[in-house]
Amino acid sequence: MLKRFQTGTAHLFIPGPTNVPVDVLRAMNTPMQDHRAPEFSEVLAPVLDGLKPVFGTQEAAIALFPGSGTAAWEAAITNTLSPGDKVLMARHGQFSTLWATMARDLGLQVEVIDLAWGAACPIREVERRLGADRHGEIRAVFVTHNETATGVTSDVAGIRAALDACFHDALLFVDGVSSIGSLPFEMDLWGVDLAIAGSQKGLMCPAGLGLLAASSRALGAMDQSRSLRSYLDLRAMLRAHEAGSFCYTPPTHLLLALRVALSRLQAEGLQNVFKRHNHLAEGVRAGVAALGLEIVAEHRSIASDTVTAIRTGPSVDARDVITIARERYNTHFGAGLGPLEGRAFRIGHLGDLNEGMCLSALGIAELSLRAAGAKVELGAALVAAQQVFASDRAEPGFAIAAE
Ligand SMILES: *Cc1c(COP(=O)(O)O)cnc(C)c1O
Repeated sequence: MLKRFQTGTAHLFIPGPTNVPVDVLRAMNTPMQDHRAPEFSEVLAPVLDGLKPVFGTQEAAIALFPGSGTAAWEAAITNTLSPGDKVLMARHGQFSTLWATMARDLGLQVEVIDLAWGAACPIREVERRLGADRHGEIRAVFVTHNETATGVTSDVAGIRAALDACFHDALLFVDGVSSIGSLPFEMDLWGVDLAIAGSQKGLMCPAGLGLLAASSRALGAMDQSRSLRSYLDLRAMLRAHEAGSFCYTPPTHLLLALRVALSRLQAEGLQNVFKRHNHLAEGVRAGVAALGLEIVAEHRSIASDTVTAIRTGPSVDARDVITIARERYNTHFGAGLGPLEGRAFRIGHLGDLNEGMCLSALGIAELSLRAAGAKVELGAALVAAQQVFASDRAEPGFAIAAE
């Protein structure tokens, strides 16, 4: 295949790391600072405050750990659960699979509900298992809010309702790595006990921070946990945050970036951020449908507004689509993970994104699919997405930038 000399800007349509806005990049282009000087708390405090609405919480304690989302997964587990504890979770994509594996590695007894990749966390089945747990052995329910591998969003409020319907007091753990900051997330309202995020997806920053929000129930469980923990000790980090600092050298430049990214979310207005993601995702989905391709999500109603996983059909290797996009068009799509390798590619549409970027993604997807042997009509996806973008259905409520 012709590998081109790359010109122009690279188009990044992977579901994390996402595009970092220029003012966020600039915020990091600054000399190192003394993290023990009082000025540092002027960086940390607005970050911790600005995260509250993004997590949908007024109550929870939020901790930032150097690391990625995976570090926050581990922190959530080791700070509140003990080896031998039983947890319930659905496995329906690469991320829920990895989280279940980690839970097992850390000594938990994981009761898995195995589902097709493309399904959402099954509320009725979770309720049935909780109802059958007469002795209250299940200590926590884990939910992957947005399964980034399949482009499926699960109903966390529904899982909370299932817990409540059974009067079950298991903790509710939610992986919001590819949803928090892009999709509505209501930690307090949904009764989430541990919510996990990463800096490089909806929060539009480089990778390097794992974020963990803990409810008061989670903090209570922290006192009982017998798991070993040291670097990711939540209690120590919360204490340090209260004093305006970290337990160790903080990644100052990520915090400088996050401070600006959060002020962008606030200026746009979170509701507008969520509407924008929905609007752009509708355009992408309309484009994919116009090409006659199927999405991995089993149903439209669970299709994610931050990432779309697209099946290429039996005659086209999705890896070719991705390679052609990258080498010929300087455009990066997400790979099909696990059993979807070669069968699907993903368009990440979260973070700092607009219609023009989504049209580029669809236009390049058409070209790459065609070059990989798919029978797609050039322009079909573009027209379908433009029709969505042109409709005024989604216009009201769009932000006039608040300067
Ligand atoms: C990206 C992602 C993770 C893993 O996060 P890292 O930052 O790569 O450690 C976990 N869960 C979901 C849903 C993700 O999208």
